[in-house]
Amino acid sequence: MNKFEALGLNDAIVRAVTELGFEAPTPIQEKTIPALLTGNTDLVALAQTGTGKTAAFGLPLTSLVDFTSRDTQAVIICPTRELCMQITRDLQSYTKYIKDANIVAIYGGASIDTQSREIKRGAQIVVATPGRLNDMIDRRRVNLSNVRFAVLDEADEMLNMGFKEDLDTILSQTPEEKNTWLFSATMPDEVLRISKNYMTNPVEITAGTKNSGNDNIEHIYYCVHARDKYAALKRIADSNPDIFAIVFCRTRMETQEIADSLIKDGYGADALHGDLSQAQRDHVMKRYRSRSLQMLVATDVAARGIDVDNVTHVINYNLPDEIENYTHRSGRTARAGKLGISIAIINMKEVGKIRIIERIIKKKFIAGVLPTGFEACEKQLFSLVKKIHNVEVQESAIEQYMPKIYDELKDLSKEDIIKRFVSTEFNRFLNYYKNAPDLNAKTGAGREERQSFSTPGITKLFINIGEMDKLDASSMKEYIAEVSGVDMNMITNIDVKSSFSFIEVKTEAAEIIQGTFKNARYNDRNVRIESRGAAGGGEGRSRERSFGGNRGGSGGGERRSFGGDRGGNRGGYGGGERRSFGGDRRSSGGDRSERGGERRERSSERSFSERKPSFSDRERSSSSRSESPAGGERKSNFSREKRPRKQF
Ligand code: AMP
Repeated sequence: MNKFEALGLNDAIVRAVTELGFEAPTPIQEKTIPALLTGNTDLVALAQTGTGKTAAFGLPLTSLVDFTSRDTQAVIICPTRELCMQITRDLQSYTKYIKDANIVAIYGGASIDTQSREIKRGAQIVVATPGRLNDMIDRRRVNLSNVRFAVLDEADEMLNMGFKEDLDTILSQTPEEKNTWLFSATMPDEVLRISKNYMTNPVEITAGTKNSGNDNIEHIYYCVHARDKYAALKRIADSNPDIFAIVFCRTRMETQEIADSLIKDGYGADALHGDLSQAQRDHVMKRYRSRSLQMLVATDVAARGIDVDNVTHVINYNLPDEIENYTHRSGRTARAGKLGISIAIINMKEVGKIRIIERIIKKKFIAGVLPTGFEACEKQLFSLVKKIHNVEVQESAIEQYMPKIYDELKDLSKEDIIKRFVSTEFNRFLNYYKNAPDLNAKTGAGREERQSFSTPGITKLFINIGEMDKLDASSMKEYIAEVSGVDMNMITNIDVKSSFSFIEVKTEAAEIIQGTFKNARYNDRNVRIESRGAAGGGEGRSRERSFGGNRGGSGGGERRSFGGDRGGNRGGYGGGERRSFGGDRRSSGGDRSERGGERRERSSERSFSERKPSFSDRERSSSSRSESPAGGERKSNFSREKRPRKQF
């Protein structure tokens, strides 16, 4: 028996979800579906976005609603237009095989007359934002007197956005005996008040730990100088060729600037913020959803309710002012059981904030080391090779040109042709990253970390020949020994890559090898050998691993060696006190928040009695924030270098 069928859902819905590719219910669905299908229960669910919460209420709801009637039997209220449309789409897909199902979205910024007409046709389920729904109630365009189910989705966000009175009015217009199902990512007092006022003995469900992030998210911070933030963002993008990211900024202005810079530099990016018209925002979202964009640069407010699958990275270009927002941001990745990465680009002064976030999400960050330009190139190279391998050849279109192409290339071997094809694109990255600096700010922890990986007495060399030159480790060793005259024992390790290699040698032999290779050639090619410093990256300060530049430190494994100081100061904020990053509130908040933190942990099992986190209207004050030190520093330091545009 299908697992959804076993939970009691009807056949038409089971068929639809199976077609959607849902194989098994998510943990929250396992809990809610049987409970809600009784048709006689209130529910309070603490659930993050991405846990499958829409189906957690949508599947039982669409099973319970009588679609042979035209009465509005269910109303789903949610904070944003985006989410409203998303829920509507989801419910429409669940009811694909149910005749006469009519699920209508009503939200502000679109024609109220059109929406009224759709409701008049007989909408059994209305999905609405609070303001527009209230407006329609006032104008008697919607009748809620037959409502049996009221769902409040992202209740904390709705209250946070000032919809408290709208919600009270809406709920008072619905019959008292209805079932109310409330979903919220956090449980501040106002949400608890709603649950007390409008529900009777609600079933309480927690999906995951309270306030804790999704387990599938890996949190990484990169510590850079403020002036290098933008370059760090590009480096992250370049070393993840398949990135599909949301980049969070704090202000509308910053959001637009970062997006503009990325576009200028050849990335598929665009901005989403409150200064754009609704039509512009829809356009951007359409492009992002269809993956015409790889990076969506957004403010917290504009990104609310964004529900796009397979986001690989959430990038905090700046940490949010309100730390609860970090969880909201990172929840945009790792949806539906997938893995995701949440990155914070910070400066050295902000490591304390990372510790505070760790307390909130109950998870450690990895202290990441930004890839070198060289490593970014390597990633691009192999991504390019994969794309060439998988490209769809349009046989009929290209056929006519093939004889001439074969003729042009007839004097080249297969290996040469491959090399040249790859190089047409790869050379641009090489040039771009030539002399690219190490962007990692040198914190004390970082230096220790790097030093611990150095191997005394060993120097790492880079050589621009590799597998493509038909060399393997042993033939490379022989070749180096032959040209330089050093004993083979002096060469301790060789790592042959496709177009280049790393050679570790005893330090006393390094200079000899470099000297003897000055004018060396291999198969008619000039051979270059350059030092990359002590093997393993001992020379932390000069660790610039670009092609052609001073290559202190080493490549290879050490970049992936995360760690750093994870203990120590975790900051004084904890539970219920205002957890804002603005200003130094530690001295007065420390004690109380420590207690708040304990309370949070104790209460995390079930009671929802946690103290309310403070929210503020982040976006309204955005223009003043752009004058903050972080904003100012960043603005003056954009690098406008163009990166090569991808051709594939
Ligand atoms: P939500 O938390 O409702 O925003 O859902 C996140 C994503 O998970 C959506 O893309 C859903 O389509 C997907 N999803 C929900 N339930 C399941 C399931 N049981 N199996 C696979 N994917 C699911």
